[in-house]
Amino acid sequence: MAEGVTRAGYAVLLGAPNVGKSTLINQLVGTKVSIVSPKVQTTRRRIIGITLRPPAQIMFVDTPGIFRAGRRLEQAMVKAAIAGVADADIVILVLDAKRGLDANSRIVIEELRARSATRPAILAINKIDTVRPPALLPLIQEANAAFPFVETFPVTALTGEGCDALLAAVAERLPEGPWLFPEDQLSDLSDRAMAAEITREQLFLRLQQELPYSTTVETEGWAASPDGSEIRIDQTIYVLRDSQKPIVIGRRGQQLKAIGEAARHELERILEARVHLFLFVKVREGWQEDPERYRAMGLEGSD
Ligand code: GDP
Ligand code: MG
Repeated sequence: MAEGVTRAGYAVLLGAPNVGKSTLINQLVGTKVSIVSPKVQTTRRRIIGITLRPPAQIMFVDTPGIFRAGRRLEQAMVKAAIAGVADADIVILVLDAKRGLDANSRIVIEELRARSATRPAILAINKIDTVRPPALLPLIQEANAAFPFVETFPVTALTGEGCDALLAAVAERLPEGPWLFPEDQLSDLSDRAMAAEITREQLFLRLQQELPYSTTVETEGWAASPDGSEIRIDQTIYVLRDSQKPIVIGRRGQQLKAIGEAARHELERILEARVHLFLFVKVREGWQEDPERYRAMGLEGSD
């Protein structure tokens, strides 16, 4: 525990899908706590990444992107994102420098207005590596006209550019109070949930088109050797329909093997142990419509 006055609080990242919220949180926490892919809606649940910037302990809350939701899973995701604001000491609104204030970002600002007028909101304009600097000024002005942000930070989450200044600003604005988590804790995800997310990331990276959205992963078994140097992890990948199963498995099992290999490497890096990962593929019709599944994912059902 730090000496003297400490600060602690929650900073919630909000934004349209794909603006780089998860990449930013990983950069701010300094390790991978949230999975990232080029596909929208990769993040399905609230994930807390914890970082120390003495005297402050900052809990960053990653959220699914906010957008006009259709399917029930989508509605539950948006609900989880918005619910995050209620617990926040600070909101960080993330924009994509290139996409600017597009329709989805305007929805996010509307939500912010409706729910969070009293909380300080910081604007992070991400992916500034993709635009020329003169293009930033009009966006900064436009966004600040749309909402009274307390500060604006242009950042590149991918490289960390500008992230330290953002971190300092967040730390400064947190309320005084004791740290809420042990100093070495980086995330609120259990190892089992984290391991399921890592496999899900590979599904998002390797499967085409709509298929990743039809999958979910659950860790069903976890057994570590007495000295912790080896871990056996059993997971089931659920798909919606029989016809999707052979695509996930691939010809002669090649796809599933590649998914498993990549996830295993990532898990070995994170867990600092030898990992034996066993993946099974099962059909569970309608898992997206089943509130039980949301609870397993850390989301609340939409009814
Ligand atoms: P989220 O949906 O808002 O959580 O976005 P992700 O963090 O999953 O990122 C979406 C995509 O944007 C991924 O392909 C990232 O690699 C990419 N990305 C994130 N930050 C940056 C950045 O600073 N610069 C560039 N060029 N790409 C980025
Ligand atoms: Mg995300």
